[in-house]
Amino acid sequence: MNMPNKAYKFRLYPTQEQEQLLAKTFGCVRFVYNKMLEERIHIYEKLKDDKEALKQHKFPTPAKYKRDFPWLKEVDSLALANAQLNLQKAFTNFFSYEHQPVPKEIENVVGLDFSMNTLYVDSEGKRANYPRFYRQALEKLARAQRVLSRRRKGSNRWHKQRLTVAKLHEKIANQRQDFLHQASRQLANRYDAVVIEDLNMKGMAQALHFGQSVHDNGWGMFTFFLQYKLAEQGKKLIKIDKWFPSSKMCSCCGRVKVSLSLSERLFCCACGFVADRDTNAAINIKKEGLKQLGTA
Ligand SMILES: [Zn+2]
Repeated sequence: MNMPNKAYKFRLYPTQEQEQLLAKTFGCVRFVYNKMLEERIHIYEKLKDDKEALKQHKFPTPAKYKRDFPWLKEVDSLALANAQLNLQKAFTNFFSYEHQPVPKEIENVVGLDFSMNTLYVDSEGKRANYPRFYRQALEKLARAQRVLSRRRKGSNRWHKQRLTVAKLHEKIANQRQDFLHQASRQLANRYDAVVIEDLNMKGMAQALHFGQSVHDNGWGMFTFFLQYKLAEQGKKLIKIDKWFPSSKMCSCCGRVKVSLSLSERLFCCACGFVADRDTNAAINIKKEGLKQLGTA
């Protein structure tokens, strides 16, 4: 089961005592969740051919385990009840995916070529530009980091600046995540299938080339969001081979260039075809995906 994990993040500063109680609670919740999951899977395996019986079956509650494992009574019962709710939700989602009809005809397909600066360029020539405030925050972070490097390590001002940098990092990570959610949502709503290259290597190489840390590369997170948002609608994410020569091939005649440097932004072919380098790659990616779908 591959369940999407939608969560909000909070930073807590518990006392030692609170920390112990939290650890105990998390432990108990996990224990109860796993017990209930185990039992549900067992029941499902036993009754899967008898839909009526499966529907009627009473699934276990945390109360049942308190009898056998009395130490569960030491933590908040609401926390345990939440484990039950979460499990119920996970199962409902799982079954609704399974019964989701796959669109009969895949009509709207788009190819995406990864791009370090803009996230991607699509086969229609559109760029998913990171919002201006995000790029401004990145510049602000770079400035704050330069200030930090000038401070004496361990000094009061250094500590203060370090906190500023950490807060900026967190803000940027949140902004990036919001943007990736929006971009993937739009694609999932608009297209029946999205084709991408199955590669992290290219992203990493480009990240290194542009001097940005690989951690800043949102591509992995983006493809994860895209995958489950498409799946929710019974749609497809198609991954093509990472060795497919998407950049060097002419999307018009199929000729493959011997070499193409990163600085060549325009793709010009002997056949007369000229296009933006990334758009040409995205068209190739889309075509290859269509081939895989068998509808080319
Ligand atoms: Zn050509």
